[in-house]
Formats: sequence, structure tokens, C-alpha cells
Amino acid sequence: EIDIVSQGISDKVKVCVRVRPKLRKEFVAEEVVMVEDCEGVTSKIQVVRDMERIESYYDQVFAKETSQEEIFEFTRPAISGVIDGFNATVFAYGQTGSGKTFTMFGPHWETSVRNSALSLNQYLKHNGSIKQRYDLFDNEEKYGIIPRAIQLIFDRISHEQDRSGDMDKYTVYCSFLQIYNENLYDLLQDGKLKNSLNIREDKFTGIYVEGLAEFVVNNARDCFALMKRGEKNRITKATKSNIHSSRSHSIFQLCVETGKVDKRGMLKRAKLNLCDLAGSEKIVNKEESMTKAHFNELRTINLSLTTLGKVIAALSSKVKNPRARSNAGMYSKKIKNKRYGPSIPYRESKLTRLLQDSLGGNTRTCLICAVSPIEDNVNETIGTLKFADRAK
Ligand code: ADP
Ligand code: MG
Repeated sequence: EIDIVSQGISDKVKVCVRVRPKLRKEFVAEEVVMVEDCEGVTSKIQVVRDMERIESYYDQVFAKETSQEEIFEFTRPAISGVIDGFNATVFAYGQTGSGKTFTMFGPHWETSVRNSALSLNQYLKHNGSIKQRYDLFDNEEKYGIIPRAIQLIFDRISHEQDRSGDMDKYTVYCSFLQIYNENLYDLLQDGKLKNSLNIREDKFTGIYVEGLAEFVVNNARDCFALMKRGEKNRITKATKSNIHSSRSHSIFQLCVETGKVDKRGMLKRAKLNLCDLAGSEKIVNKEESMTKAHFNELRTINLSLTTLGKVIAALSSKVKNPRARSNAGMYSKKIKNKRYGPSIPYRESKLTRLLQDSLGGNTRTCLICAVSPIEDNVNETIGTLKFADRAK
């Protein structure tokens, strides 16, 4: 894969911004986010707040007309690289309602799973009309990054298998987990949603989650079934324990064993992490109605997102170091040990600890920052753009 090699070290963190369209209920709201309409690729975004115009630049900016396919193209090189043994991590960051779940899974993802879990009678009671029933898996064009990534991985595997004639060359494992309030839960173990899991480190296998279910998946359909199962569990857990889904991170993982053996005789594994992050909205002021638990929740979310921002910034500044770029092999060790290594604060949050070996190293990271176009959200939009700016 010549194009992958030549992407080299300078392309390890890619940052884009996606502006969602106004929703129907927002039809009277004023739009304050502008993406210049030019043919092809745009990297500039403008936001107007109180007569002030703020301009910023990213690897790519996607206007409201952008299709799911176009967003996927931004992540494709990273995701495809998993088959060649490179790790990849994709994040959707942004305030609640900015389009993270739309981008990662697809439209009406939660509703579509909730509906499919109901009996017909419950369903009719729930929604009134069968016509409203929506199943994401009926509409490939609307697939978000996760179903598209699954398809790409299995397409590439069957392609490689046809070419080499070796049908057992690849094994794919799937897990689906959630981080809520700095606790980690397995979304694929139906009965064990109450037990939080621990992150461990092993000399040989690296970071792993103790007791996490890893399902061997043979095709995209298997994965879609696990996606649904995990989402169903997430909804059930949220309802039972009064958790709002926007306050947890969900992480869908595919791990690909490529049949190759490394120096220690271990099978080489590459990991794909697809993360729909918790809403990034700030605590504005401690309202009286806000319970202590809720306040703490927001604080831990802020902590984990801030840590993520620091980690990504540390990684991309390492990449941006001109010496690292001009002579990666020669200087990388020095840079890692002396200049940047110790300061990368992986351990400050569960999210970054979990993803420690999938951030940096031989990993390609894509950060998709989702923003709302309307005036009511302008402060959060600017906050998100600042986060994106620090990460690039
Ligand atoms: P988040 O996960 O960030 O809270 P959602 O993905 O649930 O936000 O999006 C909020 C609403 O906006 C949903 O109704 C979703 O269908 C809609 N939406 C988000 N992005 C788009 C888009 N690019 N095109 C059309 N509708 C979108
Ligand atoms: Mg969401």
C-alpha cells in the first residue's frame, strides 16, 4: 500500500469540523456558522457572535449539505489501514445535539434500536403509527461511519482473501463499551451491565479491559447485530439507572488479527476504535435544580474531554515538530523520551487510558468536531472549534 506508507508520520491526527443543517424545530433560529461554498475542499469556517466574526481553519470543514459518504471518505484511509496492521481511532466530539451520533451511527439510531426492541403492540402504543417506524439498517445511504467502517473492513478482508487464497488469514473481534462517570461497562454482556470493568496493562498484549467480551465476527451482518445489541443494552441501562445517554462515551471496537506474527511470536493485532463521545457542553453555572450527582457527572465528562484534548494536542505537536517530520526514524526516540513522552497525560482519564495504545504510536486518529449552526448554540460552537484548534 504505497499511499499508506507515504502518508508517513505527518498525517497521524486529522481534524475536521462538520456543521449540521438546521432542524425543523429550529426553522426560525438564526444561522451564525458559515462555510464558504467553493467547489471541492474547504478548510475555513466562520462564526459570528455579537457582531464579531471568528475565522478558523482545519484539515477540512464540511458544510451542512455534506453526505454521510463524504464524511466517511475523510476517515477512510485511517480505517482501511487497520487491515494493513495500523491502529485507527475516530472520535466524534461536540455538544449534545450537534450531530455526533448521526455522524458515527446514522440518523435516528437510538429510536431505530428502541423500536426494533419493542413488540408490535408496544410499538403502536409508543409511536402511534407503523409508518414512523425507522430502521437504520434499511437505509445504506444514511449509514454513519461505524456501519461503513464495518463494511469496508469486511470488503477489504474478502478482497485480500480472494487474492491470497488464504481464507483463514484474518480474525475480527468486536466489542462495544461505554464509559460513564469514569466507570467502564461492557455493552455486549447483557446481564453484567451493573459491573464496571477495570483497565489493565500487560507487557505483551498492552492495554486491555479485564473481562470484556470480544466476539469473533465473520461478516458485516454479525457486527450490525452486535451494534444493535449494545445500543439496546445502553438504552435499557440508561432507563433503569436514570442516565442520560448524552453523558456517556460509547466506544465500538474492531480488532483485526492479520495472521502475521511479530518479533515475539505474537499474532499482530490492529485495533479500530470508533467513539461517540459524551456531550461537551460546559457547566454554565450550578443551577439550583441541578442535583449533586448531575453536577459530578458533568465534571467528570469535562475532565475526560479535557484530558483527551491534551493527549491529542501532545500527539499532534509531536508530529508537527519539524525534526520529527524531516527525519522521523532518527529523532522519534529522543522526542518520545525527553520532550513529549512523559507529559502525555493518558492516565488522567479512563477514556485516554483505555485508548492509550490506540492514540499515538502506529495509530491514525481522526477527530470530527460536530457543531450546530444556530445562534442559541454559538458559545458551545466556539468552544468546540477551540477544542478542534488545540487538537490540530
Ligand atoms: P448528538 O449525538 O451530538 O447529541 P445527534 O446526532 O443526535 O446529536 O443529532 C441531533 C439531531 O440532529 C438529530 O435529530 C439528528 O437526526 C439531526 N442531525 C444531526 N446531524 C445531521 C445532519 N448532518 N443532517 C441532518 N440531520 C442531522
Ligand atoms: Mg448522541
